[in-house]
Amino acid sequence: MRELTTGPRVLLKRLRELMAEALEPQVRLDRIVNEIAKNMVAEVCSFYVLRTDGVLELYATVGLNPQAVHLAQLRLGQGLVGTIAATARALNLTDAQSHPAFAYLPETGEEAYNSFLGVPVLRAGRTLGVLVVQNRTKRAYRDDEVEALETTAMVLAEIIATGDGTRLARAGIELDLGRSMSFTAGGYNDGVGLGHVVLHEPRIVVNNLFNEDSEAEIKRLEDAIGSLRLSIDDMLSRREVAAEGEHREVLEAYRMFAHDRGWERRLEEAIHNGLTAEAAVEKVQSDTRARMVHLTDPYIRERLSDFDDLANRLLRQLMGRDAKTVAESLVKDAIIVARSMGAAELLDYPRERLRGVVLEDGAATSHVVIVARAMGIPVVGQAKGVVSMAENNDAIIVDGDAGIVHLRPQSDVEAAYAEKVRFRARRQKLYQELRDKPSVTLDGENVALFMNGGLLVDLPQLEASGAVGIGLFRTELQFMIASTFPKAEQQEKLYRSVLEAAGDKPVTFRTLDIGGDKVLPYFRSTGQEENPAMGWRAIRLTLDRPGLFRTQLRALLKASGGRELRMMLPMVTEVAEVKAAREIIDREVNHLSKFDYQLPSKVKLGAMIEVPSLLWQMGELMDAVDFVSVGSNDLFQFLMAVDRGNSLIADRFDQLSPAFLRVLRHIVESSLRHDTPVTLCGEMAGRPLMAMTLIGLGFRSISMSAATIGPVKAMLGALDASKLNKLLQGELDKHNDAHSLRELLLKFAQDNDIPL
Ligand code: PEP
Ligand code: MG
Repeated sequence: MRELTTGPRVLLKRLRELMAEALEPQVRLDRIVNEIAKNMVAEVCSFYVLRTDGVLELYATVGLNPQAVHLAQLRLGQGLVGTIAATARALNLTDAQSHPAFAYLPETGEEAYNSFLGVPVLRAGRTLGVLVVQNRTKRAYRDDEVEALETTAMVLAEIIATGDGTRLARAGIELDLGRSMSFTAGGYNDGVGLGHVVLHEPRIVVNNLFNEDSEAEIKRLEDAIGSLRLSIDDMLSRREVAAEGEHREVLEAYRMFAHDRGWERRLEEAIHNGLTAEAAVEKVQSDTRARMVHLTDPYIRERLSDFDDLANRLLRQLMGRDAKTVAESLVKDAIIVARSMGAAELLDYPRERLRGVVLEDGAATSHVVIVARAMGIPVVGQAKGVVSMAENNDAIIVDGDAGIVHLRPQSDVEAAYAEKVRFRARRQKLYQELRDKPSVTLDGENVALFMNGGLLVDLPQLEASGAVGIGLFRTELQFMIASTFPKAEQQEKLYRSVLEAAGDKPVTFRTLDIGGDKVLPYFRSTGQEENPAMGWRAIRLTLDRPGLFRTQLRALLKASGGRELRMMLPMVTEVAEVKAAREIIDREVNHLSKFDYQLPSKVKLGAMIEVPSLLWQMGELMDAVDFVSVGSNDLFQFLMAVDRGNSLIADRFDQLSPAFLRVLRHIVESSLRHDTPVTLCGEMAGRPLMAMTLIGLGFRSISMSAATIGPVKAMLGALDASKLNKLLQGELDKHNDAHSLRELLLKFAQDNDIPL
């Protein structure tokens, strides 16, 4: 590669000196545009800044009429400058005025200039402004000149982002960087959180822009790319990903990107132009993001996030940073903003500093959401674009009730939310008053409200929420937060603490539900599964690994010595599985009794109804168990063939559809017929409208996250269950091709003054 000893390097050196000098912001900008014009032998150099109101304002110029500074304005998309900002792409024109987008601004006096080169000023994929050079003669700017101007634009982005821009802004005008924006998305866990952004996969901000010695930087880059490639080859050769399947394509694409000569060339070019290796990565990443961010094709967007990930890995290599640093130095009121994240990753953050979670993807039943719910953290999901718009430390409000995120909120919005938080506290007080009241419907039907749990942090909620017991204890959560398999004693200790905290209240432990999307980093199945949700998971896995199962059963049996032990099996598909599990349990009971352990007074075994095949084995199933519990999250997923973690289809079908409600009715009727208690412990139990519907269908026991017990109880007190039952039976008996009964049920609630 040709070393550019003149041009960009000299310019960057000058810019560095200007940045170091103590200058008034406007003076600094004026000098910068002067230097650029001189260096590029341009008659005009102008710098436009994108304001919060979508207007590009001329901030500095040499060559155009100086009186036009802060007066000349273009809207986003208007004229050449507006087009560059809107598309985030450079325009290189020999004859600017013949371009269809050209807009003439008489105050600038630019009619004298023919050739035009404009580049977007980008930072972390966001357009902050536009930098332009112009010449009288009709000439085409060379590629290295375009590259040089883009590099210079990076420096301007840094100046804006670090504060000069804000001080430059005229009173009352905010720059785009500080623009307030709101995202209407999905409210996945109620609650309101006010705090500051913590990007889960933080884009590393590069401060060290200018290189002293480009050869040394190239060497650093080569070394880092070398290590990156090795780590990716290593990732690809791991046994667990070696099998054929779609995941291979994804990983091969990574390898392809990492070996892409074009990428390397662009990086080297940026270094030759005077940037450090990390600044070069940031520049090329910004360019790519800006070009691709408008594209909606999901395949391309996936590739974009692969590319982002790769660039971030390279940055980390170069800067010797690991992803954990941010979690460790967490702000006190953190709102985690992520594209998506695993449940275990959320648990890496200290709870006391978390105020909320915002996800670009994810669905209401993703495990990260369930864990957040267990921890009482407000969650908003499917907030499209939030990751690229948010910066670490931006003020942010998560409104999980309404499913809204306010990024960099205006002060009146902030004040309104502070009021909302106070209001919620008052309402919580109301729920607390309801806590010790019986949960009875208006027409005298008792409904048992249980809570779901899985961690020690959940236990205080049992008392606080007024739940009659724990209807679902997800034992896999202990496994998910551990770094190795929890030992038998650790398991027993947890179960004992749970039972002690529960006192006389019943607890239903679900045996290990791992596999699917509940991945244990330290336990891998023999091959990668293409459809893990329908794969080797839950009861299938524990029956195949009896050692694992026995350890858990023994821990449960020992911990329940002297009292009733309730266990239920996840993902049962056929009755034979229940029988096999019962045999193992009986053997364990026998074994323990030989060693004089105190055994539970009674062992009750239940099955979760999550796989549709059970719907046609109701009689046989109910004969084989002591109780059943509907896992409506999975049952809905498998019945409707709708991946519960896929945001693309999260709202496509409704759990209040006639089909799903008929299935639920069938389960209730079977349970009555066979005199086998039934409960429902999926997320729908905690949504007042859905809980109301469940009571209407005949459920008299439901289990939900602790925070939702208050609202459900408030709903119950106003519900005439038999009236709703008549309405529902009528709807489900008739020919009904409705997408959902939601509107009808909402109207019922409204007409009958039922608080939802
Ligand atoms: C369910 O599937 O409804 C359920 C309660 O289990 P989980 O959400 O843990 O899969
Ligand atoms: Mg389930």
